[in-house]
Amino acid sequence: MKLLEERIRTEGKILPGDILKIDGFLNHRIDTALLQEIAAEFHRLYADSNITKILTVEASGIAIAVSTAFLFDNVPVVFAKKGHASNLGDNVYHAPVYSYTRGAQMEAHIDSNYLDAGDNVLIVDDFMANGQAALALIDICHQAGAGVAGCGIVVEKAYQDGGKRIRQMGIRVESLARVKSMSVENGIEFERD
Ligand code: 5GP
Repeated sequence: MKLLEERIRTEGKILPGDILKIDGFLNHRIDTALLQEIAAEFHRLYADSNITKILTVEASGIAIAVSTAFLFDNVPVVFAKKGHASNLGDNVYHAPVYSYTRGAQMEAHIDSNYLDAGDNVLIVDDFMANGQAALALIDICHQAGAGVAGCGIVVEKAYQDGGKRIRQMGIRVESLARVKSMSVENGIEFERD
């Protein structure tokens, strides 16, 4: 998605730890017009996939998931909670997830009432690096017996192995910007450059 790549190129900052910071338009302040374009692109890609639910992880995935869900006939959005909130109850699916940005092992939780065996799930997230967040959500879909139609990722750091791992599992991964390499010295290069 050209528009997204341009925004990343002009506004993205590369932080230590291989982190791309785009919080001027996606991760802190949200450009809602761009968010609508992102949602439209996910809808175009998965329009024929009979999506019944959109799944993501708190917090940055939620806005992306909700704006996408509007275009899929207002299917429900479910987001995994990273901590074990006391109001979650006992009937929860959970899977380990190593948080890339926090550098800590966490657990993703979803109330088992909110995911069904008949669901056909679209997983969305802001970034894909090593695939930990998506793998945890896929694991939870499998626990529920739900189908995974695919993943919609805003920015895939394609030089990290998450996308490859998930595609090798036979799961469709669509990314709107694919970063081929990034460094403070040489800037950001995209896959189709
Ligand atoms: P993964 O689980 O694929 O290793 O990493 C994806 C998750 O970590 C995303 O949910 C995202 O929040 C965070 N993440 C990974 N890499 C980056 C990055 O370069 N920038 C930002 N802002 N978040 C990232």
